[in-house]
Amino acid sequence: MNEDFAVVAAALQKKYRGVYDVHEFLVGNGLRDALLGNKPTRRCGAKQIVDPTFRMFGAVALGETPLMKSFRVVTISRRKVYGNPESLDQLQSWSDDWKEKKDLETTIGCPLSELEVATADASDLVTVAGARPWSGGGHTVPKKRTTEDKYGEPVLKKLRDEGKKPATCTACGHKWPSKSTRFKNGGCIECTRCGTFKAKYD
Ligand SMILES: [Zn+2]
Repeated sequence: MNEDFAVVAAALQKKYRGVYDVHEFLVGNGLRDALLGNKPTRRCGAKQIVDPTFRMFGAVALGETPLMKSFRVVTISRRKVYGNPESLDQLQSWSDDWKEKKDLETTIGCPLSELEVATADASDLVTVAGARPWSGGGHTVPKKRTTEDKYGEPVLKKLRDEGKKPATCTACGHKWPSKSTRFKNGGCIECTRCGTFKAKYD
């Protein structure tokens, strides 16, 4: 690898300022290797150095890391705040003349005062197996994102299958999950195997 770490660091700072700042913070605390002052080796390029920090951001956004519990971290999506209610109080107490406040409002597309903590009705949630022990051994997820496995246990639906319904082709017998909205021949959808408009939702 012959990339120039200084160039990568500058690009990172420009494009992903938050990731850059957090990476630098972790470097300062001995938790990451620094880009600046380091040289790429055969096994360790810039990707290997900054990837863990990028992954950490992804994990925070998905609530997959206990960081959410230890720090005042929030994820904001569609005017909803995912995190501790106290974190929202803190955000909303930011002073109007603070540049950071304007920047954040521009990024999320709405004033901080309009944000609400996301809530969920316990009856709409279900715990699926297969998570890390610190989170209690299971992920709690919205029921509509799950399906039942062959043992009747709730499991996460594959995202790509969400919104699909079982369909069967009357011509070739093919069964598959579809979300086609093109109907022909009296309400039939196109079969993904034989290509005829002779399939129907079950
Ligand atoms: Zn078919």
